[in-house]
Amino acid sequence: MKHPKYIFVVGGVMSSVGKGVVTSSLGMILQSRGFHVTAMKFDPYINVDAGTMNPTEHGEVFVTEDGDETDQDIGNYERFLDEDIYSVNYMTNGRIWLEVINKERNLEYKGKCVEVGYHIPQEIIRRIKLAQQKSRSDIMVIEVGGTIGEYQNILFLEAARMMKLENPGDVLFVLVSYLPIPSKVGEMKTKPTQHAVRQMNEVGLQPNVIIGRAEKPLDTVRKKKLAQFCNIDDAHIISAPDVEHIYAVPLMFEQQELSTKILKELHLRPRTASAQSPRMIQWKKLVKNIQQSTEPVRIAVVGKYFHTGEYVLADSYISVIEALKHAAWQCKRKAELVWLDPEEYEQDPKRVKELADFDGVLIPGGFGSRGVEGKIQAIQYVREHHIPYFGLCYGMQLAAIEVARHVVGLRGAHTVEIDEAPEHPIIVVNPHQQKNILQKHYGGTMRLGSYDCEVMSGTKAAVAYKQPMVKERHRHRYEFNNDYVQRLHDAGLIVSGRNPQQDLVEIMELKGHPWFLGTQFHPEFLSRPLHPHPLFLGFIKAAIARNKK
Ligand code: GLN
Repeated sequence: MKHPKYIFVVGGVMSSVGKGVVTSSLGMILQSRGFHVTAMKFDPYINVDAGTMNPTEHGEVFVTEDGDETDQDIGNYERFLDEDIYSVNYMTNGRIWLEVINKERNLEYKGKCVEVGYHIPQEIIRRIKLAQQKSRSDIMVIEVGGTIGEYQNILFLEAARMMKLENPGDVLFVLVSYLPIPSKVGEMKTKPTQHAVRQMNEVGLQPNVIIGRAEKPLDTVRKKKLAQFCNIDDAHIISAPDVEHIYAVPLMFEQQELSTKILKELHLRPRTASAQSPRMIQWKKLVKNIQQSTEPVRIAVVGKYFHTGEYVLADSYISVIEALKHAAWQCKRKAELVWLDPEEYEQDPKRVKELADFDGVLIPGGFGSRGVEGKIQAIQYVREHHIPYFGLCYGMQLAAIEVARHVVGLRGAHTVEIDEAPEHPIIVVNPHQQKNILQKHYGGTMRLGSYDCEVMSGTKAAVAYKQPMVKERHRHRYEFNNDYVQRLHDAGLIVSGRNPQQDLVEIMELKGHPWFLGTQFHPEFLSRPLHPHPLFLGFIKAAIARNKK
C-alpha cells in the first residue's frame, strides 16, 4: 500500500486495562477486512529486553522466532494475528536510548547536538517505519506501554504526534480507558476517562476512538457524556465489558462495527465484508468451540513463579496456559489448571500423592535451585504412576535427572546449573555458553529463538508432529549431556528429537509410559488458538484418556 496506516493504542486511568488484547483484537478484525496487519509494542522500561527481569516482576518473557526476549503481549499478537512477529516490532526505552547514544559515539549525527526531545522520537519513528517495511503491512497497530500522564512513555507519544503531523490522514489514536463502578455509588463513572483524554490533549493528541473497559457495557448516557466532554463522535465510543475469555473480544468489537469505523477514519475501503471473511468465519467457529467445551481436563502445573505479595498470579506462564487451553478446546474440553508449589513436596514428601488426582502434570521452564528437588519428586511420582507428564525446558532436564537417578541408579546425577561438579553431569553448559557465563554476560546470550529439530520416526513425538523436521523456539543456557544418551536409552528414556546442526538433544520420551515427554525448547510459543501445538495436543489427548479410565 502506498500510504501505510498507523494506529496507536494508549491506556488511560490505570495499567492492566487490556491494551494488549485490544491491540491484538484490533489487528485481527482489520486483518479480517482483507488487510495485511502487524502489531508492535513499546515498553517504557530501561531494560534493553525482558530477558533479564524476574518473571514475578515482569510476567512471561516471550521469545520471537528471531530470538528476541520480549514482553508477553507479543505472544498475544502472534496468537490473534496467527503470524510471526519479529524483533523489530518490539522496543523499550533502553533499546532506543542505547541506539541513539551508540550512534552519537560513532559520529552518526555528524557533530549535531543530539537532543532528547527530537532525536529520541526520531529514532522511535525510524523503528516504526522499519517494522512496517519488514512486515510489508498495510496497517500497523502500535501499543504504547504504560498509562497516559506518566513520564516514561512521553517521548513515545511525542513520536506519535510527529507522525500524525507529517501524515494526518494515516495516523489514528485509540484510547483504552477504565470506567469504574464504585460499589457504594452503583453508577459507572466517566470522569477518570475524561481526565485521561485531557492528558492526551496536553501532549497534543486527541483520541479518534475510545474503548471503554468496565465490568458492564457502557449505556447511552455514559456514551453521550464522554462524547460531549471528550470531543468525540459517540459512535466512536466502544464498549468493552468483561468477557469470559479474551478470544471473544474481536467479536464484541465487530458487533459494534469497529473495523468499519476505523477504516473509514483511515480513508480505506474494506476489501472484504467482515461476516464473509474466512478469518472471521474461523474465529467464530473457535469461539463457539470454546463455549461448547465444558467438560474439564484437569492439569497440574508444578512451578514457582506464582506469588506476588498476597496474590497468586500465573502471568509468568501465559503462553503455557494458552497452549493448554488451545489443545483442550480442539478436543472439546476445558483445561482446568491447578498451580502447585514443588517446595511443599520438599517439606512433606507425602504430599506429592496429590498428583494422582490430575489427568496430567506439566512442569514449565525455570531457572535456579529453588523447588528443584520437589519437582524431581513430582516427576518420579508421575513416572511411577503412569500419569501423563509434559516437561518444558527445565521440565525436560529435570526429567532426565530423575530417570538417571532412580532408574539408571546414578545417584549423583544433576545439572551443573545447580551443582558445579556433580558426579554425573546429566545437564551441562553448552560449549557456546561457557564464555558468556565466565564473563557474566547474561543479557540476550542464552540459546534463543528458532532451531531445527529432527523428529525420530516411530516415537510419540513423530506421531504428534506428523513430519520429520520441525522448528521450535528456545531459551536456555544448559543442554543434555550426550555422554549419557545410551545409558538413559537403555533405561527407556529415548531421544526422539535432535538438532542436526549442533547434535543437541531436543526431545526425550519414556517408552512404555502413556505420555512422558520433555522438550528442550518451548513449544508453548508456537501454539495458536487456530492451530494448537501438536505436542500439547498429544499431552491433552493422553490426559483425556487417563480421565476416561
Ligand atoms: N535453567 C535451564 C537452562 O538454562 C532451563 C531454562 C528454561 O527452562 N527456560 O538451561
